[in-house]
Amino acid sequence: MSTIFSQIVAGEIPARIVYEDETTIAFLDANPLAPGHTLVIPKDEYERLNDVPDDVAADLYETVHHMVPVVEDAVDADATTVAFNNGEEAGQEVPHVHCHIVPRFEGDGGGPIHAVAGDRPDLDDDELDDIAADIESSA
Ligand code: 5GP
Repeated sequence: MSTIFSQIVAGEIPARIVYEDETTIAFLDANPLAPGHTLVIPKDEYERLNDVPDDVAADLYETVHHMVPVVEDAVDADATTVAFNNGEEAGQEVPHVHCHIVPRFEGDGGGPIHAVAGDRPDLDDDELDDIAADIESSA
């Protein structure tokens, strides 16, 4: 069973496609958070960023990089929030990697990316050092 986004890629359901190349495609979000809210996806179906092969990840970022100023200019935005909900617990509803490009406007009432997480953890220096070491050792 393919995702709704694969059905858009296949042309089986309509979407307002704004950019397409060999491996990626961008289209307007059907329930936009702001005018110009655009989704950028790899054409092949990967559930999470963690599943995306290196070459596709590079293509995906290239399209995001290309589209951010294009979207901002099109809707005369002051800024953009650019983000992935990576996994169900992070709010991902469609299990096909997608980058949200959300145009932002002065006084739009929205928040920064810092507003997405729950209560902030109270971590001491030793805990921060351990976490940094764990991440660094696998990076
Ligand atoms: P998520 O919560 O998975 O990060 O975001 C999924 C996004 O896909 C939502 O913003 C939602 O509005 C959008 N979306 C869901 N179904 C469709 C669809 O059929 N067409 C389009 N263009 N966007 C969709």
